[in-house]
Amino acid sequence: MNLHRNPIPVTEAVSRIMEINADKQIETVSIPNSHDRILAEDLVAVHAIPPFPKSPYDGYAFIASDTDQASRDHPVEFRVIEEIGAGQRASRPIESGEAVRIMTGAEIPKGATCVAMFEICQTYEQDGQAFMTIKRKMTEGQNIMAKGSETEKGQLLVSKGTKINPGVEALLATFGYHEVKVYRQPKVGVFATGTELLEVHEQLEPGKIRNSNAYMILSQIERSGAIPVYLGKLADDFDTCYDSVVSALKEVDILITTGGVSVGDYDLMPAVYEKLGAEVLFNKIAMRPGSVTTVAQLNGQLLFGLSGNPSACYVGFELFAFPFTQKILGNGKPYHKVIEAVLGHDIMKPNPFHRFMRGYIEYEDNQVTVHPAGIDKSGVVTSLARTNLFIILRGGTRGYKKGDRVQAVLLEGHQGADDFIIKS
Ligand code: AMP
Ligand code: MG
Repeated sequence: MNLHRNPIPVTEAVSRIMEINADKQIETVSIPNSHDRILAEDLVAVHAIPPFPKSPYDGYAFIASDTDQASRDHPVEFRVIEEIGAGQRASRPIESGEAVRIMTGAEIPKGATCVAMFEICQTYEQDGQAFMTIKRKMTEGQNIMAKGSETEKGQLLVSKGTKINPGVEALLATFGYHEVKVYRQPKVGVFATGTELLEVHEQLEPGKIRNSNAYMILSQIERSGAIPVYLGKLADDFDTCYDSVVSALKEVDILITTGGVSVGDYDLMPAVYEKLGAEVLFNKIAMRPGSVTTVAQLNGQLLFGLSGNPSACYVGFELFAFPFTQKILGNGKPYHKVIEAVLGHDIMKPNPFHRFMRGYIEYEDNQVTVHPAGIDKSGVVTSLARTNLFIILRGGTRGYKKGDRVQAVLLEGHQGADDFIIKS
């Protein structure tokens, strides 16, 4: 086997993956099942909002010009002819000198041209008839939400490829779409390789560790919006690994393995890819951690060989597998967002290659700062619990000082980005 590995830049590795065609399919789900799914059709206003002129307040509706002479010492009086709540309609058009007591959300009676809030109106009753007086001049259209003032019929409101959030769900309901077309979620299978691995429920024994990567990646897959499929752990035995990978490829859209991509005696994944006849897109990346991350494709199906080292594995998923899951999911913004922030700590360590340091975001001294999450070693698991971003420490730098501006890859809580660019 050829052990020579040619490191490529991170962004080149990402592009090679994203050039692979994704098999996007569409399915229909109900609104309550649409959360965080990706819209597979444009959401267009099928009617105006509001669909009728309505009152934004509780108050009185009347003809604004009736108050032309109103002032502090000259209140104008109206006869209150009826009362309407939201969902009710006035029984007849309004005439000069008349007012309708109207509640928020109710349709403006025909003829009325303004609404005065309760707070500026005085009311009294005489012989069973309600009256209202007002001491100020109202203008035409005041406090009326005109039909279509929010959006006109036919307007494009949310484009396909957008992740559905609570606001999008509100819009779907507004327009009466109780079902919506979304992209199918890919099934992403996970194998953890390593003879040293114990399952979670097993007691520790000398020389063994528990398989934490599988659970971590299953959760990363779920966070990405794809469907995680745990396929189990595999001992470092070639035939076991090969046979398991072959059968798994029939079950899932994307296959992720952890461990076994380095150059040790028991690192068997490169030989598995070779026997499968898979095309290796790359097997060495100029980055830390996770430089051995390997990605191969077989008949359009991607196999992600992530490092067994927990931090490297975590980074490998987010930088390389995540955007591809988004591509299959039809996300128009498939990349994690890269922001600029202020570094909250000195990190005086030379970076021969781009380093993706696990970190977290804070808001301090009126600015967004980023902090390292803990020990910065690829084999570390403890720092991951605090991680919600990667601080990018650019290759060729000798260290960073607190207060320096750095880029950071946001892993949570955003709609995605159109590209993945590391500034030089
Ligand atoms: P490998 O990539 O197989 O050479 O493994 C690198 C390191 O990660 C070794 O110390 C492994 O014991 C550890 N490791 C491998 N797989 C896992 C896993 N599933 N969970 C936790 N640690 C792992
Ligand atoms: Mg191993």
